[in-house]
Amino acid sequence: MNILVINCGSSSLKYQLLNMDNEDVLAKGLCERIGIDGRLKHEGRAGEYEADLPMPDHSAAIQIVLDALLDKNHGVSKNVSEINAVGHRVVHGGEEFTQSALIDEKVEQAIEACCEMAPLHNPPNLIGIRACKKLMPGVPQAAVFDTAFHQTMPKKAYLYAIPHALYDKYKVRKYGFHGTSHKYVAMKAAEMLGKPAGELKIVTCHLGNGASICAVDGGKSVDTSMGFTPLEGLAMGTRSGDIDPAVIPVLMEKEKLSAQQVIDMFNKKSGVLGLSGVSSDFRDIEGAKKEGSAHAAEALEVFYYRVAGYVGRYAAAMNGIDAVVFTAGVGENSATTRAGVCEYLQYLGVALDAGKNAQRGKELDISAEGANVRALLIPTNEELMIARDTKAVAAR
Ligand code: AMP
Repeated sequence: MNILVINCGSSSLKYQLLNMDNEDVLAKGLCERIGIDGRLKHEGRAGEYEADLPMPDHSAAIQIVLDALLDKNHGVSKNVSEINAVGHRVVHGGEEFTQSALIDEKVEQAIEACCEMAPLHNPPNLIGIRACKKLMPGVPQAAVFDTAFHQTMPKKAYLYAIPHALYDKYKVRKYGFHGTSHKYVAMKAAEMLGKPAGELKIVTCHLGNGASICAVDGGKSVDTSMGFTPLEGLAMGTRSGDIDPAVIPVLMEKEKLSAQQVIDMFNKKSGVLGLSGVSSDFRDIEGAKKEGSAHAAEALEVFYYRVAGYVGRYAAAMNGIDAVVFTAGVGENSATTRAGVCEYLQYLGVALDAGKNAQRGKELDISAEGANVRALLIPTNEELMIARDTKAVAAR
């Protein structure tokens, strides 16, 4: 069974075609600058290639992806009918979706209703779904939600301490994101530790440009650091994470900004970019620190400190912890970040093996021998998780 996984952003589209009989990746790629001009990066049977191709909208981009998959030289499929199902990453599923869903009219409407809560993410996700429906009529399509894994959080974790009526009326609460990644690495961690997920207390740290932490107790998410939107929680590449909301009117008045402009600043110009003044990319900030930038050093320490703070909070939430998992761009690749975070976690029984921690991008137990809490490095694989869910949904 071949499954096409689509992850649609506002001007980009990532895709992977997987053979789900053996979970092999047949082809993958990226469409960029959709609505501007258009660029395709495709990796298939004949290796990698790049091409400038007009992509006035997402439909055009998906047609280009299908053409690349069916191409005589680079393609991996003879006919579009060899694509048996499509899995879409959908960022926000609200309270409606506790698991992945087969897309029909009702599901589409429910995704549309969530656009208000994820105005940057859900609209392009929906455009991708509609374009695939048009280009591949009759092929089952599944929506795999970033929020679904966190729907097991108890009320004490997801309620904000504001008047209850605001939750009742507007569903203002913590939702959490990156659920597909947290679920994947938590399952993989259980496999690596050789124990059933149901018996483990794991804290998963998804540290990429966007970053979040999840408390996974017995295989279920019981708390996570992102909130109503992906702005809450850790300091991130460009996002502020937690901040006193009373700062907002002060900045509005002093900087002559609208509320939306302040939120944009918290989303796009803050985090380690804002603090370091260097970049949102940890490689650049680590480089600047080495060259003596005090602001770069501070930005990194704020990041480590906040990650460690959430790990401690979740150890308390679960009354213990068996393993800490590091994943995503920074978590998988930056040994300095893992070491910086784990410095703060010695009291829990976390200790790294420096030699193992120096490795990157592969599944590895990086703990020192005898450490009470295991530290695991696990590359995330959201596409595979989406394909697995899509296969299950299509078979229902
Ligand atoms: P993601 O959002 O998961 O794709 O992560 C992207 C981020 O990972 C980049 O912005 C970098 O900050 C970080 N990253 C990738 N490779 C490295 C590396 N070798 N060392 C430190 N950070 C890295």
